[in-house]
Amino acid sequence: MIPIAKPILGPDEQKAILDVITSGQLVQGPKVREFETRFAELCGVEHAVAVSSGTTALHLALLAHQIGESDEVITSPFSFIASANCALYVGARPVFVDIEPNYFTIDPAEIEARITPRTKAIIPVHLYGQACEMDAIVGIAEKYHLAIIEDACQAHGGLYKGRPVGSFGTACYSLYATKNMTTIEGGMLVTNDAQIAERARLLRNHGSPKTYQHVILGYNMRMTDLSAAVGLVQLAKLKEWNSIRRANAAYLSEKLAQVEGVVTPKVRLEGEHVFHQYTIRIPDRDNAAQRLREKGVGVGIHYPTPIHQQPLYQDLGYADVLPVAEAACREVLSLPVHPSLTRADLDFIVRAVASL
Ligand SMILES: *Cc1c(COP(=O)(O)O)cnc(C)c1O
Repeated sequence: MIPIAKPILGPDEQKAILDVITSGQLVQGPKVREFETRFAELCGVEHAVAVSSGTTALHLALLAHQIGESDEVITSPFSFIASANCALYVGARPVFVDIEPNYFTIDPAEIEARITPRTKAIIPVHLYGQACEMDAIVGIAEKYHLAIIEDACQAHGGLYKGRPVGSFGTACYSLYATKNMTTIEGGMLVTNDAQIAERARLLRNHGSPKTYQHVILGYNMRMTDLSAAVGLVQLAKLKEWNSIRRANAAYLSEKLAQVEGVVTPKVRLEGEHVFHQYTIRIPDRDNAAQRLREKGVGVGIHYPTPIHQQPLYQDLGYADVLPVAEAACREVLSLPVHPSLTRADLDFIVRAVASL
């Protein structure tokens, strides 16, 4: 089976882990600080705060922006559930806005109609590694004085008009095992706002500016130095891995363009897509997924259910009708695109899809 994702962890990562164990500095030590510095450089921002997961980065971002009870945040229904759940964690209400059919990202033209006096932030999700339409989103955020909290959990190293994803507001990254780079579990919050960064650092570590002094209610969201050491090795390889992902995607799109019924992913000309996922639309998707798995292609469905239709959100009374996201959930299918694929793997995937 060609897997849908394959973490690349080898001797460099093993050595980095052993070095940390030998050093004895295990949590929030020098490797975490170095990783934060390097990650901030990747995003072209001033501050990076390493945390335990992408989900905690999102939770921390809402806390740091002091979003809470009776506030609303606007986000996409077509994402991993954490993009919206972070609002629930702080007692705020996620408000869903439908997506653009070509790019699967939040549709800026639909945002203004959902803004109320309670709206505090927009959480654009750079889905599959492709930046949202940030010029329009930044324009709306400025007009209504809203924070931008980018969910960049799938977009490490991505660009929008030459500018790094993650540099448009406060941004959150996941470093989970299957992402474009990994610390196994881990996350990162990045921002140019010194006050947000300082609050995030406090909140990450029990509101504690120094040992056993606690000035605000905080949490344990810390990253270990083991994770950071792995992250540093991975970060050095990210650029090359992303360019292989892009080349794999271009190859798949060239070959699959000839297959009837298949809609290949559209790439924004002004962006640099990092292809966390390579996602097509295909008729009779569930059947296609099953047949491709039988043929040995490990496909994925990102995502089968829009967030507003998840049981959790149905129980909360959400009754939105968001036709573009709902259609996407029925039609999308992700094919392997990761950097470990060989040309033979790619040809195998193309033949399998063409012979459905
Ligand atoms: C992976 C992911 C998250 C959550 O990250 P974890 O590290 O798994 O907590 C959030 N949003 C999106 C879009 C993701 O892909």
